[in-house]
Amino acid sequence: MMAINLFQSLPPIPLLTLQFFCLPLRTLIFTSSSKPKPRFIVAPTQDSHVQVAVICSKKHGLQIRVRSGGHDFEGLSYTSSVPFVLIDLFNLRAIDVNIEDNNAWVQAGATLGEVYYSIAEKSHVHGFPSGQGRTIGVGGHFSVAGFGPMLRKYGTAADQIIDARLVNANVVVPPIVTVASLDKAYEQGATELVHKWQTVASRQVPQELYIELIVGVSNNTSRLAGRRAIELKFKVMFLGPSKKLMQLMEAKFPELGIKANECNEMSWIESVVYFAQFRDRIERPTDWLLSRDAGDDAAKFKVKSDFVTEPISKTRLEEIWTKMLEENEPYLAMSPWGGRMSEIPEGEIAFPHRAENLYMIGYLTYWDEDGDEAQERHFNWIRELYEYMTPYVSKSPRAAFFPYRDLDIGRNEIINGFMSSAYSGCSSWGQQYFKSNCEKLMQVKSKFDPHNFFQDEQTILAEQHICPIEYHTMHGPRDLDAYMVV
Ligand SMILES: Cc1cc2nc3c(=O)[nH]c(=O)nc-3n(C[C@H](O)[C@H](O)[C@H](O)COP(=O)(O)OP(=O)(O)OC[C@H]3O[C@@H](n4cnc5c(N)ncnc54)[C@H](O)[C@@H]3O)c2cc1C
Repeated sequence: MMAINLFQSLPPIPLLTLQFFCLPLRTLIFTSSSKPKPRFIVAPTQDSHVQVAVICSKKHGLQIRVRSGGHDFEGLSYTSSVPFVLIDLFNLRAIDVNIEDNNAWVQAGATLGEVYYSIAEKSHVHGFPSGQGRTIGVGGHFSVAGFGPMLRKYGTAADQIIDARLVNANVVVPPIVTVASLDKAYEQGATELVHKWQTVASRQVPQELYIELIVGVSNNTSRLAGRRAIELKFKVMFLGPSKKLMQLMEAKFPELGIKANECNEMSWIESVVYFAQFRDRIERPTDWLLSRDAGDDAAKFKVKSDFVTEPISKTRLEEIWTKMLEENEPYLAMSPWGGRMSEIPEGEIAFPHRAENLYMIGYLTYWDEDGDEAQERHFNWIRELYEYMTPYVSKSPRAAFFPYRDLDIGRNEIINGFMSSAYSGCSSWGQQYFKSNCEKLMQVKSKFDPHNFFQDEQTILAEQHICPIEYHTMHGPRDLDAYMVV
C-alpha cells in the first residue's frame, strides 16, 4: 500500500493468510470465465502481511493487483493480462473514530457504509463527504477523490485525508438534514428544467444545497402513446431543515415546483441510506450500510465521464435526448460542482477538477443480455454518445473523472510483461484525469517506485520507464529488459 518501501528488508513472517474465495464483483462484465484470474489471492490480516505479499510477488515476477471494495469500473483491481497476485484487503477494515480530535483512522479494506455508520454511532453532528455506493471500498475511493452529496460543502473524500490512513472527520453536519427526490416527465418541461439546472445548481445556491440530476429514459410507454421518452430525477440534499430548503428552492428554482410534502427531514446517516440507492428506493435501516452484499450495485454496465464548463443550449439538449432514446437503459448522472470545489486550487492534491466546472456528467448504460455481442453493442452506443458530446464539454484537455475509470481514453501497453507508454511526457489520458498535476505524479512515482513494480493499465509511469512504442518495434523485447532498468 501507499507507505510500503519495496526494498526494505523485513524480518521473516511465518504466517501469510492465503484465502481463495468468490469475489463479490460489482461490474458483472468481468465475471466471465475468459477473464484472467489471479494465481493467488492474499487476504492480509495485518499490515505486515501486505509487505510480505509484495516481496514474494516481486521475487516470483508476479504483478500485484490491490482490491479494496472491488468497484473499479474496468475491473483493474482483480483482473490483469499478465500473471498476477490479488491482495484483497477486506480483512483490513478497522475504523477508529475520534470525535474529540475530529478525525478517524480507517483501514483501506473498510467500505464507505462502514465508515458512515461508525461515525454516526459516535456522533449525530459529524459526517464524511464521500460517495453514495455503500459497498465502495475506502482504498480505491479515498485515494481517487470520490464524491457524494456533501461535495459542494466540503469537497471530495481526498480533500479530507490527513495522511495515508487518517481522515478528517471534522465535517460538521446539522442534526436535521432534508432530502427530496423529484421525478419529472419529458412533457413537464424537462429540457427547460435541465437548462436552468446547469447554472442554478452549481452557481446560484448555497454550498449546503446539492441538487443531483439523473436523466433517464422512461419505459412507461402508455403515457406517450407507445413512445419512450426522457425522464428526470432530481435528488436533493440540504444540510438544514425543510422550511429553509423550501424558501431557497422557491427563490432560486421555482420551476422545479418542490412541495413541502416532498421534503423529508432526517438525520445525516439516514440520508446516506437514502442516497445509497440508485435504481430502486426502499425504506431500509441504517445498519444496511454494514452489509457487504452488492445487491442492486452488481450489474452489467459501462461508465464514462465528462466535465461541463459552459451551459449546453436547449437545442443541443434535445439532440442529446434523441441520442439517449436509441439505447435501452441509459443514464446521465449530472453532479453539480461549485461551492467548496471552486475554492480549492487545482494543485492542492492530485485531483484537479475544480472552479472551472459547472458540473460533471457520468454516462452510464446498463444491460441484462449475456454475451460479447450485446456488450459490444452497448459499448458502441456509449462511445458514440461520448464522441457526440465533444463540442459541449471541457477541452484541452477533455477532463475525465479518475474514479469513473475508463480504458477507452487510453492505456499503458504491456510489452514483455512491463507496462509501457507511447508518450514521452504525461500520457493524454493522464492529463485528462490529472491535468497539470500529472507531471508531479510522474515525479512522485519516479522517486518512490522507479522500477514501476506497482503498475496497471492506467498507472502514471515513472519517467525513466516511459518508452516510446517505436522503441519496442525497433529493438525487440530482449533489449527492452536492459532499457527498463530491472
Ligand atoms: C455501484 C457504484 C457506485 C459508485 N458511486 C460513486 C459515488 O457516489 N461517487 C464516486 O466518486 N464514485 C463512485 N463510484 C466509483 C468508485 O469511487 C471507484 O470505482 C473507486 O475507485 C472504487 O473503490 P474500491 O476500493 O471499491 O474499488 P477497487 O476496485 O477495490 O479499487 C479501485 C482502484 O484502486 C486501487 N486500490 C484499491 N485499494 C488500494 C490501496 N489500498 N492502495 C492502492 N491502490 C488501491 C485498485 O487496485 C484499483 O485500481 C461508484 C462505483 C460503483 C461500482
